[in-house]
Amino acid sequence: MKPALLPVSGRDVRPVRLPVRTREIVTAGGSRVRALEVFCPARRQSIQAAVCGACEHASACSSSEVVCDPPGITSALDLDPEADAGAAANATTTCARSDVVGATLVGMIPELPRGVPVVDDIGRFVGFVSSAHLAKSPFPWRVTMAMAAGDLAFGSSLSVHETAPLSSALRVMARHAVREVALVDGAGGLHGVLTDLGALRALVGAGRIAR
Ligand code: SF4
Repeated sequence: MKPALLPVSGRDVRPVRLPVRTREIVTAGGSRVRALEVFCPARRQSIQAAVCGACEHASACSSSEVVCDPPGITSALDLDPEADAGAAANATTTCARSDVVGATLVGMIPELPRGVPVVDDIGRFVGFVSSAHLAKSPFPWRVTMAMAAGDLAFGSSLSVHETAPLSSALRVMARHAVREVALVDGAGGLHGVLTDLGALRALVGAGRIAR
């Protein structure tokens, strides 16, 4: 289906390089299930990289990026505060399925110090688990380590829709004093994580914030 391209609205029309993002789900058995996605600014949603690469507007694609041409759309370096938050998501999102136990989460925290995103068995965001959340568990440590991630994700579970403006996502983070939010679709499916630094880097790159 031909995507409905956004209006050019005075911007230069040129090919844009869109990063291929990795979403990796750690399962209870310890395996990692990977999915490659691109946030399509024209469709305003995350889509499978293979679908993006097969699109009529893709002039080149590799394992790390898709060149979208002619788009009349913005690249990550052209983001403004009203751009979709999904366009500034982390390159890699590693998360745990809700039946992963606390002991496995502890092993993931050095890799994800701000918190491990937890998803249910169909990929919907449940919440973040950080070392602080584990430390706040009302149960003995031995019990906590055997508990399922879905039951431990009782801390920050902030999420915004991937088409929410960057400015709104930053406001949510500031209001709740957190440094990241999950990016979800209309069904709650997790497509990435936006950090305060990632959002600010995108805005600074666009010259919207004085360096
Ligand atoms: S090439 Fe990919 S990013 Fe560009 S319009 Fe097609 S699906 Fe969207």
